[in-house]
Amino acid sequence: MSKDQIINIFPKEKKKKDIKPENFINTSNKKNLYLLPKQDINKKIFDRLSKCFQNSKNLEKIKKDTILIVLNSYSKILKGEILNNEDFIISKQEITEFFKLEDKDIVRYIYYRYKYNKFPSLHKLDDYPPNIQIEPTSICNLRCIMCYQSDRTFSKKSGGHMGYMSLDILKKVVDEIEGKIEAVTFASRGEPTLHKELDKFLKYCEGKFLALKLNTNATLLNEQKINMLLSSDLETLVLSIDEKNKETYEKIRVNAKFDKIMKNLELLKNIREKNYSNSKIRVRISGVKINTDQNVEEMNKFYNEFADEITLVNYDPWQSSYENPINEIEEPCTELYRRMFVWWDGKVNPCDHDYKSLLSKWNIKDHSIKSIWNSDNYNKLRKIHQQKKRSQLEPCNRCLST
Ligand code: SF4
Repeated sequence: MSKDQIINIFPKEKKKKDIKPENFINTSNKKNLYLLPKQDINKKIFDRLSKCFQNSKNLEKIKKDTILIVLNSYSKILKGEILNNEDFIISKQEITEFFKLEDKDIVRYIYYRYKYNKFPSLHKLDDYPPNIQIEPTSICNLRCIMCYQSDRTFSKKSGGHMGYMSLDILKKVVDEIEGKIEAVTFASRGEPTLHKELDKFLKYCEGKFLALKLNTNATLLNEQKINMLLSSDLETLVLSIDEKNKETYEKIRVNAKFDKIMKNLELLKNIREKNYSNSKIRVRISGVKINTDQNVEEMNKFYNEFADEITLVNYDPWQSSYENPINEIEEPCTELYRRMFVWWDGKVNPCDHDYKSLLSKWNIKDHSIKSIWNSDNYNKLRKIHQQKKRSQLEPCNRCLST
């Protein structure tokens, strides 16, 4: 099977809304609270949030107003009223996170989720982005067919895009965003577990964020790395696996060996059960649906014992961001309000779809995260999108993200 045959769900009309929503299913394990009757959960959420809100002192106005909106939304639901656009309730996945948190963190969490979910449609900004992605390295040991690593102009050494982040850059970012941003993800263009100082990166983040996440292709896991990850302050560990069939898996995840992955999953499971059974960490297997044959139900059956959640997310043609056909999408991109990316060399970018940083004008060595997020250049990008003129921007003119 050729690469083109494996990727068979690329939308012909080049519009994201034309991709069927069948591609995202989340099948968490039975312990999850959201399997309780809906009204019981809603009541629990309302009561807990009310209590935590009453106990929080000196809340800024924007946070206070947000919590009141959320409480009002739950109150409407409990009365059987219909929610409208201004309302906000948390999703299934967020419910799991909500109930894992301590009371002291509940208000912070709800404000962060509101910011992440609602600010893009309201075109609202806070001083800091809701989420930041930090890339320990842009280097990867795999060349997955749907990934920009398979674009040689990006991944070859002489292209200038490859490298490892220094601990100094990591510290500069973390020192600024602690208490300002709740969600930090170690991921982006490369494989984080290749970084020799990842343990120091994780240690430096300890106790500073509500939602610390790391994505790995799981091919390099060993006893030492698994212990490092499970003993850290990670809230979510994402393993990028898209298939249960050995042949297809190896065709998608070029350079990876299916047998090795299975061995690593077994090791992770054993160490987790033996030494970290009380850890808050959630393990998610997450793949990209690039082929109609991929089936999340079957994946769930196959991988259930190794993870708390199994997901397949929609494919976006990341491997050819600069060559995809120009599309007619006019809808603004939510990434401009949701996330910011810090590359290994300190370069800051609005998204990783633009993996060669054509949109970037900033480096963390010269600017703060706050000043970049609120800069004229960043706001100019947002304005162009809002004016439905994203066709003027490369690669937004070829991107499906909305
Ligand atoms: S539309 Fe532009 S800013 Fe948004 S993800 Fe695509 S390339 Fe990035």
